[in-house]
Amino acid sequence: MAYSHLLIAIDLTEDCHRVLERAQQLCQALACQTTLVHVVEPLTLAFGGDVPMDLSLLQEQQTEQAQHKLNILAEQHQLLKENNCHLRYGQPRQEIHLLAKEHNCDLIIVGSHGRHGLAMLLGSTTKDLLADAPCDVLAVDLQIHTADD
Ligand code: AMP
Repeated sequence: MAYSHLLIAIDLTEDCHRVLERAQQLCQALACQTTLVHVVEPLTLAFGGDVPMDLSLLQEQQTEQAQHKLNILAEQHQLLKENNCHLRYGQPRQEIHLLAKEHNCDLIIVGSHGRHGLAMLLGSTTKDLLADAPCDVLAVDLQIHTADD
């Protein structure tokens, strides 16, 4: 069974180019539709609920920066157009699953890892996405392999 609609979820780091490349190859091979999503996570989630300061301005800036990066990516990758790039706000797993259902996507494409350092303690979005996924999930290997591997 071929896939007909890919949902590409990106974290807007350098790694997302590799995820986009793989998605582009699949899309060419299968001649399928594509939708892209980046989810802006609430800062209160990252810092915990009881931060004694107003994070709304910071959150607004984060959203603006994400939209700016998304616009640049849309110009760089022929796979992307303004109307298939979505910026969502919330918890990544929840929003990605929701978007996949809304658009009848049958394959979600993500990177195998994205975070480094401390943030790794929070767990991987990819692992999280697998639980109750509404369709198949493809994890693109983001490690650079050498001949010795
Ligand atoms: P991580 O959980 O940070 O290791 O990320 C693994 C992969 O999940 C990334 O390479 C992206 O494909 C995807 N991902 C992580 N965070 C987000 C996000 N905020 N919005 C959309 N996709 C994401």
